[in-house]
Order: sequence, then C-alpha cells, then structure tokens
Amino acid sequence: MRVELEGIAISPGIALGNVVLLDRTKMIVERIRVEDNVIEREKERFLGAVNRSKNQLLSIKENLGHGDTGEHLDILNFSIMMLEDELLSQEVVDFIGAEQVNAEWAINSVLTKKSEAFRKVEDVYMKERLADFYYLGERILRNLHGVHDEISYLAAESVLIAHDLSAVDVVSYAKHHVIGIVTDIGAFTSHSAIVAKSLGIPTVMGLEDITARVTPGDAIFIDGFKGTVILNPDKNELKKFKKRRADYIKLEKQLLKYAKLQGKTLDNVEISINANIEIIEELDLARSYGAEGIGMYRTEFLFTNSVYFPDEDEQYENYQKVVSALDSPIVTIRTLDIGGDKFPVGMEPSKRLNPALGLRGIRFSLQEQDMFRKQIRAILRSSAENKIRILIPMISKLSEVLDTKKIIEEVAEELGTGNTWEIGVMIETPSAAIIASDISEEVDFLSIGTNDLIQYTLAVDRINEHVSYLYTPFHPAILRLIAGVVDAAHKNSIPVSVCGEMASQLSCVPLLVGMGVDELSMNIHSIPKVKKLLNTITEKDSKEILENSLKLKTEFDIRTYVRKVIVQRWGDDFPAEFVEEIVTSV
Ligand code: PEP
Ligand code: MG
Repeated sequence: MRVELEGIAISPGIALGNVVLLDRTKMIVERIRVEDNVIEREKERFLGAVNRSKNQLLSIKENLGHGDTGEHLDILNFSIMMLEDELLSQEVVDFIGAEQVNAEWAINSVLTKKSEAFRKVEDVYMKERLADFYYLGERILRNLHGVHDEISYLAAESVLIAHDLSAVDVVSYAKHHVIGIVTDIGAFTSHSAIVAKSLGIPTVMGLEDITARVTPGDAIFIDGFKGTVILNPDKNELKKFKKRRADYIKLEKQLLKYAKLQGKTLDNVEISINANIEIIEELDLARSYGAEGIGMYRTEFLFTNSVYFPDEDEQYENYQKVVSALDSPIVTIRTLDIGGDKFPVGMEPSKRLNPALGLRGIRFSLQEQDMFRKQIRAILRSSAENKIRILIPMISKLSEVLDTKKIIEEVAEELGTGNTWEIGVMIETPSAAIIASDISEEVDFLSIGTNDLIQYTLAVDRINEHVSYLYTPFHPAILRLIAGVVDAAHKNSIPVSVCGEMASQLSCVPLLVGMGVDELSMNIHSIPKVKKLLNTITEKDSKEILENSLKLKTEFDIRTYVRKVIVQRWGDDFPAEFVEEIVTSV
C-alpha cells in the first residue's frame, strides 16, 4: 500500500530503493523454566543459532574488501573461534540441562560469567575482546529469534530503516550499498545525522514509527532535501522519482567541480573551508571534496567504538594519518568529547540522567587525567612541520582552559617537544560565549560549536525530534552570541572558526561571512556547495544582510528575510537545488 510520510530532512539527496529493516533494539532475556521434555529442543535451538552465527561471520569474512583488514579481521576471527569452541558450547548445553532453563538465559549467563573473567585479565588484547564478546552474544540471541542485524546481506539499492542508528553504524552501513537511511528518532545535529551528511547518504529522521510501517523489501523513495518518504510509490511516481534521482546524480557530479574552488568570496575575502571528520576513513573523501584543512577531528569515535580506550601508540598512529592526509597548515584534533549522545559500549548512562549537562568533554578529561595525558601525548607526538591545533570541547569556565593548558605544557615538557602546538577552545556553552574575550586572551584560536551552543542557549535537546521545531540558528540570541564571540576573538587578534552544522547551512553562510569568521568547518559532503556559495556572494553584501538581520527580533523574521534576500541577490547564480535548500532552511 502506498504511504506518504514527512520527517526531518537530514541529509540532502534522492534515493529510490528497497527497504531493509534493521532491528537494533537490545534483546531482553528472560529466565524461563523449561520442562524435561523441552530441554533437548532448547539445546538444539542453541546449537542451530551458533551454526547460523558462524555461517554469517564466515560469509562476512569472505566478502571483506581488501581494505578491510586489521582490526575488522581480528574481530571476525576471534568471534568465529569462539563459536567453534566446543567447550564453550558444551558449557551452555550443560547449563540448559542443569538449570532447566531456556537457551537465551543459558547463553546470557555463560557469556556474562566469561566476560567477568575477561574484565579481570590484565592483557590488553583480551580486554579489547570484551565488546566483541558482547556483540557475539547479541548475534546468537538474534539468531535464536530469526532477527537480522546483518550488514553482509544488504543487496544493492538498500534503504536502511531503523529505530535509531549510532554514528559508527552509519559508517559501517555506508560501506555496504546503503543508498538511504530513514529512522524513527534523531534530529538534525545528532551525530548519526552529521555522519550521514558527511558521507552524502540521503537521510530522513524523526518519523517516529517508520519501523512499524514497513515490510522488508518494500519499494521506498526518500527525498532528503524535503524530508519526504514514500512507501510503495505508484508507477507514475516511480517514473518521476527515477528522473529526480538522475538529476540528483548529475548535481553530485557538479559538486565535485565546485570542490576545486578556493574558499573565498567574490570580493576576494579568503575564508578557509575545512572538514569535520569522525573517523580516519573519511580522509580520502575530505580530499576529493575539496577540504582545505581539517577543522575538527572528533576523536571520541576512536574511543566509543570499543569498551577499552585505545592506548597511546594506537592513538598516535591514528592522529598521524590525519596530520599527513592533506597538505594543509590546518589540522585540528579535538580532544575526547565523550558524553551527550556519544558513549563507549557499556558506558551509556541511565535514561533518567541528563547526559548533555553531565560529565562531558573536558569535564570528563580533567577527571580522567591519565587517559587525557595519554591523548595529549599522542597528539603532540603526531605534530609535524606545521603546528598541530588542539581543540578543547565543552569548556564552560576559564579555569578549565587554564588547567588544560597546564597539562599540555607539562606533557610537552615530558616529551621534550618544542612549541609545536596551538590550543583552541570550542565555544559551545553560553557561558563560554559570554566570557569569550577572557578565553581569547589565553588561547590561539576559537571554534564555535553551534550544534551545542544552540542546544544549550535555547534549551532544546539537539537529538530530540519532538523539540526540533524549536532548534534554529536564526534565533536572535544565537546570532548575537556568535557575533559577540567573533568580535571578542578578533579584538584579541586570534582567528575564529565555526564548526557546527550552521557552517554548512547555505542560508547561514552569508550571516557568518558578515560577522567576519575566518574559517568554516563542516561535514565533508557540504564543502563543495558552500565553496560555490562563497564564491558567489560578497563580504560587503553579507555585512549588510547581517546588520539588517540583527535588527530583527524573531527567528521567523530573520529566517524569512535571509531566505528572500539571498535568493533575490544570488539565486540565479547557483543550482536550483541550492535555491530550494535556502528556501526550505529551518
Ligand atoms: C558542536 O557542538 O557544534 C560541535 C561541532 O561539536 P559536536 O557536534 O561534536 O558536539
Ligand atoms: Mg559540541
């Protein structure tokens, strides 16, 4: 049956494909007492699930691309070895018989006992296997119920439907033919949304119950520009959508041409256009989409991917790849920003806590100083000819800046490194924005994290689709705060970057140019279109647009004015899709 739905437009683009439904809900395991005559059946169920799990992993291993070696292969080999371990299987089989329980309970009990033992071992390799163990247990449980969460089975033209996805999930699925993503929850600046945008996967989020409405294999159309999703479109629509998809592919090719432009306005004001990256696999994309530097590497994804934090050498190797990826003086490594919607496996907070206001970013790092010093050592060791830029997230008071500087200086002295780094602060809390002038006296650059600055200033949870209608960069409070931060930085003669999603929103770019920001850093896929816009507009006009906007009193008036004036002045000079994006910007 044809169904048309509206969600939040997350990542622009058009996708036409077939539904793959992903069940990522955690399996809930109950203890059920089984009668004598069912025990054998439970044992067989368990052994059958082990077999299916093993076959799936063998097939993933067979299909591994050449680039997929190292860690990925280690995990697979470890998991297959566990599934082939007859002693382990026998332990579960015996548990079912001895305790007279269902297979699910037996697996959970035996694996929990094993994980406890792993946890106590000093060996780093074994500790790293803890997360693999957890996922292996989940896989066997899913196979007991015939539920798939498998990436190796995705056919070409798959559109992934899920209740929620982590940013790491998005990265993994992107490698496996996923041409579109639709989720029940999530909003514009959730981290899975940011990664989907970066990778250019058309995405719509916040549909609330799409997972309950689809059947695997349904035909699905996604318009990531508008946030429209159509299930089982009719024949005429299909024809129309195929044409829209072809136009979109043409636009994508055009984008790569814009990637070569320099980041400067028509009246020759240079503004560096940099990439935000989450994982090092994005570096190639950053290069081909014209990134002039790395404006922010969100290192937490290196940490959230495993239950144990990577050691100094592992981090060093990782950061070195970032340092050498582009021929650019701008390489910005942001220190760990755990918290908010980013947690390592097993460290997720209780639902009742408010993680966005909790032990996040620098607060966590200053409490976990051993870990923090390790990260700083790895960053400083990786700096090359150009100074590496260390960016500190979630600063809310000056003493955090001073404490962090002291740690960096101590670590540099231990290492005997000269003055090979610059330190910058993320301005993403209202308090940091208000004291930006004092912060500027202490650091080499500022980077405005509008994703959080908007969340904290407007008191709107950035990942909650129910309040996303309130989340907007056009609020006068936001524009005034950012303008104040830019002035504070410039009065202290330091550069200022904007690295939140606002930097990639076409309708916001003239406002930021008008304020005089020196750099814009964004999801990779947006780089070419922002370069094209920048090359079309002038600083002079942008200043006038900003001045007029700052006189207006509501976000509605500002947005309406900005949309209109950009389209009037420059609408004829860039593609219709960009005009559409400006007209529909929120
Ligand atoms: C921000 O808050 O704007 C930012 C860039 O950081 P993150 O999105 O990782 O919180
Ligand atoms: Mg932030």
